[in-house]
Amino acid sequence: MAVRAASGVFLAVLCGAAALAAGRAVASPIADSYPIATDVRLGGDDTDSRFVMDLSRKIDLHAFTLADPYRVVVDIPEVIFKLPPKSGESGRGLIKAFRFGLMMEGGSRIVVDLVKPARIDKAFVMDASAADPARLVLVLVATDRDSFLRKLALDDKTNVKLPAAPEPQPANGDSRPVVVVDPGHGGIDTGTRAPGGELEKDIVLDLAKRLRDRIDKFGKYRVVMTRTDDTFIPLAERVDIARKAQASLFVSLHADYLSHREGDAQGATVYTLSDKATDPEAAKLAEEENRADVIAGIDLKSQPDDVAGILVDLAERETKTFSIQFAHKLVAELKGITKLHKDPMKSAGFRVLRAPDVPAALVELGYVSNKDDLKSLMSGAWRDQMADSIAKAIDAYLSTHVAGAGPNAD
Ligand SMILES: [Zn+2]
Repeated sequence: MAVRAASGVFLAVLCGAAALAAGRAVASPIADSYPIATDVRLGGDDTDSRFVMDLSRKIDLHAFTLADPYRVVVDIPEVIFKLPPKSGESGRGLIKAFRFGLMMEGGSRIVVDLVKPARIDKAFVMDASAADPARLVLVLVATDRDSFLRKLALDDKTNVKLPAAPEPQPANGDSRPVVVVDPGHGGIDTGTRAPGGELEKDIVLDLAKRLRDRIDKFGKYRVVMTRTDDTFIPLAERVDIARKAQASLFVSLHADYLSHREGDAQGATVYTLSDKATDPEAAKLAEEENRADVIAGIDLKSQPDDVAGILVDLAERETKTFSIQFAHKLVAELKGITKLHKDPMKSAGFRVLRAPDVPAALVELGYVSNKDDLKSLMSGAWRDQMADSIAKAIDAYLSTHVAGAGPNAD
């Protein structure tokens, strides 16, 4: 219920009471009850560009800009996007590319990447007419960096902030060690995409649920998921969830992609946190995974940097050692059941692994760009085996590291 309340508040701020009526306040989750986006067109040049999206009915919107990188964010009530394939992959004029998708229950978002600074000249939704459907219209006009930042400062007070993450499932007196399972990406942030259209966010969510069920079977641990559906969770909130739950372990699940130019890598890799990446490939991957917030239109400057001080430093050193010990156990377990990357244990600066007091690892399950890996990733039997091995590694690690989780604890 916390989620529902949070999104209600968000929408009320976002679009006024009308949005609530249009959103999931309607009890029945029938697809027909949501507005549908059916087409999108870009027009203009690099001084003046238009973004036009056809909609099945009129909706409210809230548009604002973000810097570094330059983006325009349009928040709208939950919409079903039925746009032509490849919509948003390329741009025109001031628009480099755009993404769209669910941001949270009841709220969707469009994020437009800009080629250079631009201001929002107009942002509105036109009523349907006899000839045309309702249309969301965004008119952008080129500006310079100084003007862009000045406008941003003025906007700041009215910017919509995401609601705080819903409190993780309460412990309710349950004192068992907590394992946080973190399916990467979600909502507007799809993660990698296989050539056939399979999305990382869906693959890892399904596997995460299997892993949760598998860990539950031990009876020794409490599992907290960072998400259980297709909504977006900022990276910092995932870290927060782990810290608030005083987790003993954090496991993030992902699936990698390499373009043909980069070769055809294959197999699973286990990553831990370090400020210096093992190799350029690991550094690039961390950069990609860290883009989640940029993709979803989060203002990176508004993210608190709560990691400071010598105590944190000390905690980190121990956390790092523990993380590496867990990663070793994980690689050993995975070896038996799936193909591993030629270099299966690496480290890099993943923001989602940054809790100073929670040992953490990020598993790239395989490459959606590799035919054999994708076949595995899409197989229910393979997912079950992976969930089983990861759960065994978690149990092996916690049995020797956490009081109360020993082999005789059940
Ligand atoms: Zn990922």
